[in-house]
Amino acid sequence: MTDKARAAQAAGEFHRLTGDHPEGIWEAPGRVNLIGEHTDYNGGWALPFAIDRSTVVAVRRRPDHVVRVWSANLGQEAAAPIRDLDPARASAQPSWARYPLGVVWSALGRGADLPGLDISVTSTVPLGSGLSSSAALTVAVAVAVNDIAGTAWGVEELARVAQEAEARFAGVPCGLLDQLAALGARRGHAVLIDFMSLSRELVPLGPGPLVVISTGAQRANAAGAYANRRAACERAAGVLGLPTLRQASLEQVEARLEGELLRRARHVATENARVMQAVRRLHDRQPLGDLLTASHVSLRDDYEVSCPELDLAVGTALREGATGARLTGAGFGGCAIAIGVSAEALAVPVAKAFADAGFKPPTVFDVEPSERARRLA
Ligand code: ADP
Ligand code: MG
Repeated sequence: MTDKARAAQAAGEFHRLTGDHPEGIWEAPGRVNLIGEHTDYNGGWALPFAIDRSTVVAVRRRPDHVVRVWSANLGQEAAAPIRDLDPARASAQPSWARYPLGVVWSALGRGADLPGLDISVTSTVPLGSGLSSSAALTVAVAVAVNDIAGTAWGVEELARVAQEAEARFAGVPCGLLDQLAALGARRGHAVLIDFMSLSRELVPLGPGPLVVISTGAQRANAAGAYANRRAACERAAGVLGLPTLRQASLEQVEARLEGELLRRARHVATENARVMQAVRRLHDRQPLGDLLTASHVSLRDDYEVSCPELDLAVGTALREGATGARLTGAGFGGCAIAIGVSAEALAVPVAKAFADAGFKPPTVFDVEPSERARRLA
């Protein structure tokens, strides 16, 4: 669908819900992280790209200091008076509505002057599958609010608004990767993010298929396991006397850590090195499949965030001709990315492998490196 068609559809939906026309329409994409996993909260590097699935919000001011949100995906609405927007009272709202309401709360806390708002949301990013529908939603609302309130926030501040909404208002701890990917990516490119400085550099992705295998798997205690990994990394940096694992060399890690901390820190050190290698190879137009596969092995064995479905997706993709494949996102379920082979070639073998293993049917589709969050109309 073209930008114009998506904007028209969102405007039509807004009109149906409110009987009015929106003031503007904004869009933010989902993302896939090509490489650089669990490095963001360690001050390291990641290389995500925006995908051709996005969340579109249609927004209009309302004078009564009420924020009302609709989700076409869920067929639900929620509302709150602006004066009631507070993390301590967020649990009174349905969990999905905490994301957009949290953005308004965060923006107000940073001095944005906002009246009430009507916000209708419609997304082609599958919800909760690991392609970051949450950041697509918070970032789309953040760029809308930025324009409406005239705050002129840049990429970093917008990312922080979106992160604060998710972490503090929706209560889901997260780094800044998803938000910066949605705000900083460009068509045909990945964006190299340095989480020490938050600086970003676009890296052209050559032609060639990028395939997502969405496993549909979701481990029950993923949030607890994520917090546990973060804590282990902090402890490892502490033992090494470093501010973060970004500063740790593989030699240091191997000489001075053992057991769990050794494995966790070794993943971070080697993953950061793989990201830098991947960037060099992309600039030199060299293949990078082996780096993706090595990343998966490290996430599986050292970081221990894979699961049988992800291992099967990666193994099947490699067997069917992918030049590289890895889990993408936090792990414990969600998606894998495979390169060098088309979704068409992978769909049947992956479906069969999943059926044989007794897993839920996966979905397999091509993604295109797409444009960052922006105003559509
Ligand atoms: P992911 O970001 O990988 O899709 P998350 O669990 O982080 O998975 O975020 C998914 C949640 O974000 C959904 O369960 C819902 O609460 C919220 N969300 C995202 N997009 C929408 C949408 N279009 N409508 C309503 N809620 C949404
Ligand atoms: Mg998310």
